[in-house]
Amino acid sequence: MLKVAKIPYTENEPLAPKSTFKVGGTARLYIRPQTPEQLESTISAARSSELPFFVTGGASNLVYPDGVYEGAIISTQEIKEIFYDPDERTSDGSVLVTCQCGLPMAAFVDFCTRKNLSGAEQFAGLPGTVGGAVYMNARCFDRSVSDILYLVDVYEYGFRNIIHIS
Ligand SMILES: Cc1cc2nc3c(=O)[nH]c(=O)nc-3n(C[C@H](O)[C@H](O)[C@H](O)COP(=O)(O)OP(=O)(O)OC[C@H]3O[C@@H](n4cnc5c(N)ncnc54)[C@H](O)[C@@H]3O)c2cc1C
Repeated sequence: MLKVAKIPYTENEPLAPKSTFKVGGTARLYIRPQTPEQLESTISAARSSELPFFVTGGASNLVYPDGVYEGAIISTQEIKEIFYDPDERTSDGSVLVTCQCGLPMAAFVDFCTRKNLSGAEQFAGLPGTVGGAVYMNARCFDRSVSDILYLVDVYEYGFRNIIHIS
């Protein structure tokens, strides 16, 4: 299915170099969907074939196990578009910045800074992706991601996020 759908993957992939803690064995499959649609079809194929799988972002909050993981690690890191329409406002007048789950949190903060949007600057040094930060409800300098989160698109497993900047 991965070959047919042109979803990039590797077999017997060493996991240690891919995580912040630099530990872990190998994954039978390491899959890098390029779009939210590819992420959904990867997850749906894994579920229907009863293949164990785990979705990762930046792997900055993970310790991969030693040995062989007999399943698929699905990385969201290639799914990283960001959109902003200055005319799109919430009822209280705040603007919305929309991004995909694999965008690095640092890139999200950088984007907001370049657009003169405040609200996310506390997260400037946070490792990992926006998806990981939402899943963990990351917190930096007395601000949690939930304080600026407006809407999340949730798939069966994995999501794309919409962030609310005040
Ligand atoms: C040096 C250092 C400093 C840190 N400082 C802070 C800090 O100040 N505050 C703080 O809160 N945390 C901190 N962390 C922890 C970590 O950076 C955060 O938890 C970060 O938000 C994790 O994001 P990630 O993309 O790396 O997630 P990962 O480590 O890849 O995954 C973490 C969890 O999120 C899930 N996940 C990831 N992406 C998705 C997705 N798209 N859909 C569904 N589930 C998903 C994974 O399955 C996993 O359960 C720090 C970590 C390091 C190494």
